[in-house]
Amino acid sequence: MSRPAQRSRRQQPAQKLSRRTPLKRASRAKWVYLFDEGDASMKALLGGKGANLAEMTKLGLPVPPGLIVTTKACNAYLASDGFPPGLWDQLTSALAKVEQRTGKRFGDARKPLLVSCRSGAKFSMPGMMDTVLNLGMNDTVAARLSVLSADRRFAFDAYRRLVQMFGTVVLGLPDEPFEEVLARHRNVRGIANDADLEADDLAAITDEFKEIVRARTGKPFPTDPIEQLRLAVEAVFRSWNGKRAIDYRNAAGIPHDLGTAVNIQTMVFGNLGEGSATGVVTSRNVTVGEDEIEGDWLANAQGEDVVAGTRATHAIATLGDAMPKVWRQFTSACKKLERHYRDVQDIEFTVERGKLWILQTRDAKRTAQAAVRIAVDLANEKLITRAQAVGRVTPEHVDFFLHPQFDAAVRKAAKARGDLIATGLNVSPGAASGILAFDADTAERWAREEKKAVIMVRPETKPDDVHGMLAARGILTSRGGRTSHAALVARQFGKPAVVGVAALNVDEKSRTFTVGGRMFREGDAVSIDGTTGEVFAGALETVVPDFNDPYLLTLLKWADAHRTLGVWANADYPRDAERARSYGAEGIGLTRTEHMFFETDRLPIVQKMILAKDDAERDACLAELLPIQRRDFAGLFRAMDGLPVTIRLIDPPLHEFLPSHDELLRDVTELETRQRIAGAELAAGADPLGLAGTLAQKRKLLAAVEAMREANPMLGLRGVRLGIHLPSLVRMQVRAILEAACECAREGVKVKPKIMIPLTAHNNELKVERAILEAEATAVMREQKTRVRYQFGTMIEIPRAAITADQIAKYAEFFSFGTNDLTQTTFGISRDDAETGFLQEYLEKRILPENPFATLDQAGVGKLLQVGVALGRATRPDLEVGICGEHGGDPKTIAFCHATGFDYVSCSPYRVPIARLAAAHAALADAKGA
Ligand code: PEP
Ligand code: MG
Repeated sequence: MSRPAQRSRRQQPAQKLSRRTPLKRASRAKWVYLFDEGDASMKALLGGKGANLAEMTKLGLPVPPGLIVTTKACNAYLASDGFPPGLWDQLTSALAKVEQRTGKRFGDARKPLLVSCRSGAKFSMPGMMDTVLNLGMNDTVAARLSVLSADRRFAFDAYRRLVQMFGTVVLGLPDEPFEEVLARHRNVRGIANDADLEADDLAAITDEFKEIVRARTGKPFPTDPIEQLRLAVEAVFRSWNGKRAIDYRNAAGIPHDLGTAVNIQTMVFGNLGEGSATGVVTSRNVTVGEDEIEGDWLANAQGEDVVAGTRATHAIATLGDAMPKVWRQFTSACKKLERHYRDVQDIEFTVERGKLWILQTRDAKRTAQAAVRIAVDLANEKLITRAQAVGRVTPEHVDFFLHPQFDAAVRKAAKARGDLIATGLNVSPGAASGILAFDADTAERWAREEKKAVIMVRPETKPDDVHGMLAARGILTSRGGRTSHAALVARQFGKPAVVGVAALNVDEKSRTFTVGGRMFREGDAVSIDGTTGEVFAGALETVVPDFNDPYLLTLLKWADAHRTLGVWANADYPRDAERARSYGAEGIGLTRTEHMFFETDRLPIVQKMILAKDDAERDACLAELLPIQRRDFAGLFRAMDGLPVTIRLIDPPLHEFLPSHDELLRDVTELETRQRIAGAELAAGADPLGLAGTLAQKRKLLAAVEAMREANPMLGLRGVRLGIHLPSLVRMQVRAILEAACECAREGVKVKPKIMIPLTAHNNELKVERAILEAEATAVMREQKTRVRYQFGTMIEIPRAAITADQIAKYAEFFSFGTNDLTQTTFGISRDDAETGFLQEYLEKRILPENPFATLDQAGVGKLLQVGVALGRATRPDLEVGICGEHGGDPKTIAFCHATGFDYVSCSPYRVPIARLAAAHAALADAKGA
C-alpha cells in the first residue's frame, strides 16, 4: 500500500469533523494508541491505567473503546506549552476509529458519543491528577440523549456534571459557586440529596452553571465538543505539575519526569435506571487478605457516588441477588484478571442497562497483613513462585507486624470507662493515638514543626489533604467507604485509619465533633484502631503485638530458603535472646556486657571497683561481680542452645559508670554552702544531717571522676585499651564466660562462645590482650575439667583496623564490623552531636543523601568493609565476618553485606524478621543478576 493512500484514509474523517490543526512539521512520533494497539508492558508510555485498559481489551473483556495519549506527549506538551506536531491529528484519527466501533459520533446530533478524559501515570497516583467526564455534551446533544435514553433527567444530570467538572478542573474555577447553586435547588425542593433533583431542576442548574462559567471567565461554556476535548487534554497534562500531584510524588518517591498519559474513553452510564449500576472492588480482601471479592456498589449511580461516600453503598456480595447474570460475568472477569496479572486487582465496573463494562483494573493497594497473606496464597495457588511471593513482600510490610497495637487490658479498661466512642470501617490496620487536627495544614504543622502525635479528622479526605495524612499518626473520617480516598491513601502509606464513622458529627467551622452526646475539640486526644475500626477517647497505650501470624511465618520460612546471609541478633539478656530466637535469629552477634553493669544491684559494686584504692580492693569487687556475670552468660548460652553467642568485653570508658562530673560538682558546691551556713553548729560538733560525711564521699567521687575525665571520651580509654589498662576486669569477664560455658556444657547445652574485643586499632593490641585472656580461658577449663570450643575475635570499628585487617586477622578468628563507631571514626563526627545538631542541616541541604548512622555510607565506610573483608580473608580464608552496628537491620546495608561476602548480619531482635526478608531479597536479586 502506498503511503499517500494510507494518509488520505486517515485524514478523511478528521477533515470532515474539522478537527485538523495546521500541520506545522511532519512528525513520525506516535503520540496516540488505540486500546487494541497496546498492552500491559507499556506502562511507562501509556500509563498504568492505559496499559491495563489495552491489556483488558486484548483479553477480550468488555472494555468501552478508547484511545491513549502517551506520557511522552505530555512531556512534550509541558516542555513547549503546546501540543507536539502530529498529536492532534493522531488523536482525531483514533477518535474516528472509536466512533466506528461504537457506532456513535462525537458531537453528532443523531447518535452522539460522550467520552471521559482521565489522567493515568506509570505509577498509580489516586485522585492526584485531573479527570473530566461526559465530554461531548451541549444543548443539542443533551436534547437528543433525553430522547435516546428516554430519560431527560439522566441527560441533564450528565450535562450539569460536565459543566461543573469542566469549570473547576479545566477552567480552574472554585467549586463553591456550583455547589451553592445545587444547594439552593435542593432547598427549594426540600430535598437532601442531588439524586432527588428532577430533570427540570437539572436543566435549570446546567444553565446556571454555564452562566457561572461565562461570568467568571468572560467566555461562554464551549459547546463545541472538539474544543472541550482539546481543553480537557491540556488540563490533564498540566495537572501532572499540580501541587497535590507533586506532593504525592515526593511522598511516594515517584520521579517527576515521567509525565501522565491521557485516556479518552467512551462513556458508559451506571445511572440509566435500576438495571444500571456501578461499583469498585478488589478481587480479594485487601485489609486482611482473605480470598473474597471486597467492595461496594450502587444501583443507578455513577462511579464518583460510590467513592465519595455520599450515598450508602451496598456490599458487593449483594450484587449477586440484584443482578445474578451480571454477577456471574463479573466474578469470572475478576478471576480472569487476577489470574492474568497474577496479583490481586482493584477493579472498577459499570452496568449500563444490564450490560457489564470493566472500566479499570490495577494491582490493588493492600495492607501489610494482606500483602503477606496474598503473596503466600498466590504461591500456594501456583499463580506465582515462592521466590516471587518473597519478592512481593517488602521489609516495611514485615515491620508492620512488629508495630504497636493497643494492649488488650488497656482496651478493655477504656471500654469499661465508656471511652469507646464509635466504630467505623477498619480500612488500614494498626493503632494510633494523638491529638485531633481538623484540617491537613494543621495536622502537618503540629506533626512536623511541633512534633506532636496527631490524628487527622475530616468528614472525608480529598487529594489536597495528602500532606496532612502523611504527617498524621492516624486518619479518621465520618464518611467514605473501603475504597474511599482516605482508605486508599492510608493503606498505601501504612497509616492506621478508621473511615465512615457515621456516628461522628464533624463540624469543620467550630473544629469539633460530637458523638454519643460528647463533644471533642481540636487538640483533644483520641485513639483509633485501624485493625478493628474502634475509636476511643483519650490516648491509649500501645504494645508490640505477638509475632505469630501464620502467613508471615510461612513467608519468612520461604525467605530463609533463599538467603545465604545469616541473621543474628544483638541481645544483652536471656529474654532478648529468647525473643530474637523466636523471631528466627541464628546466633547472637553482640552482647554488650557493660549493659549488665548498669543494673541497680551491680552498679554499686562496679563503682566500688572503679574507685578501689589498691589491687586487693579491686579484686574483691571483681570477685563479687564474677558470679553475677557468670549467671548472665549462662542464661544467654541456655537461651541460645546450639547457636553462637558473641560476648563483647567491656567497651565504654569507666567514668560512664560514675555520676556525671557536673552533677557531682553541683552537689559538692551545694553541700559546701550548706556547711558554711551551719558553720557554728558544725564547729560545736553537731551534724544531725550528716553533711560532713556526705560531702567527703562526694568530694572523693568528684576527685576520681576528675582524674578519669577525658576531653574526647569516644576516642579515649575505652575498648581494647581499657582491657589492656585494667586486665583484671576483662580477665574476670573471660573467666565468667568460660565458667558459664563449662557449667552449661555439663548440663548438655551446646555452647558456642565467641569472645569479642572491641575497638582494636593495631594488631599488637589484640596480640597482647589475647595472650592474657587465652591464659585465663585455659586455666578455667583446666579447673573445670571441661573443654569447650570457643573463639577469639575482634570488632572492626576504626579505619586503621580495616586497612590493616590482614595483620589483625592473625589474632582474630572472626571480625564483626561495628559500623556505629566505624561511621563515627570514618567521618570524624560524633553521632550524639551530629544527630541532634548539624546532621539534620546536612540532610536538608542534600550534602549527605541519607543519615549514615541509619544506612551504611557505602562509598566511604562501605569501602572499609570491603577492604577489611578482603584483607582479613587473605590472611585467614575461613575468617568469619559479620556486622553488629545498627546498620545490620537496614535492608540496603544488608544487600551490601550480602554482596561483600559477609557471613551474617546482627541486628536488634525486632529487626530480625526484616533482616531475614532483606537477606532473601539480596540473594534473589543476586541470582537474577547472575
Ligand atoms: C558499633 O560501634 O557499631 C557497635 C556495635 O558498638 P557500640 O554501638 O556498642 O559502640
Ligand atoms: Mg562500638
